[in-house]
Amino acid sequence: MKTVTIYTDGACSGNPGPGGWGAILQYGEHRKELSGDFCRSCGYCLPCPQEIPIPNAARIQFLMTRSPYKPYLTKEWREGMDRIDSCIHCDHCKNHCPFGLDTPALLVSQKAWYDKFYEKHRDESEK
Ligand code: SF4
Ligand code: SF4
Repeated sequence: MKTVTIYTDGACSGNPGPGGWGAILQYGEHRKELSGDFCRSCGYCLPCPQEIPIPNAARIQFLMTRSPYKPYLTKEWREGMDRIDSCIHCDHCKNHCPFGLDTPALLVSQKAWYDKFYEKHRDESEK
C-alpha cells in the first residue's frame, strides 16, 4: 500500500483575527504544499445591502463537497448564488471580516466554482 503523509495546521492571529490554513503532502521524495483562507460562516460581515447570503455562499464549495450536494442545487440556492453578481463593492463585508478575508473576491471565486458544478449536476436538483 502506498502512503501519503499529510501535515496540517491552522491558526488566527488575534482571536478572532486574520487566519488561514496550511497542509504539506509528502510521498517519498515528492512534496506538495497547500494553503489558503476560508470562510468560517460567522456572519460578522452581515448585513449585505444586496442580500447576498455571504456566510454560506462564501463557503459553498466546502458545503457541497463535504455533505450531500443536491440540497444546494435548488432554485433558492441558484438565486442566492446569482446575487453575487449584484455586488456593489461597498466592502462592508471585507471591512468587518475578523479573519481578514477579501470577501468579495472569495464570493466571486466560489460562484465560479458553483456555476461549473451546477451546470454539471443541475438535472439532479431536488427542486
Ligand atoms: S462588497 Fe458586495 S458582498 Fe460585500 S457587503 Fe458589499 S455588496 Fe455585499
Ligand atoms: S466572510 Fe468573514 S465575516 Fe463573513 S462569514 Fe466568512 S469568515 Fe465570517
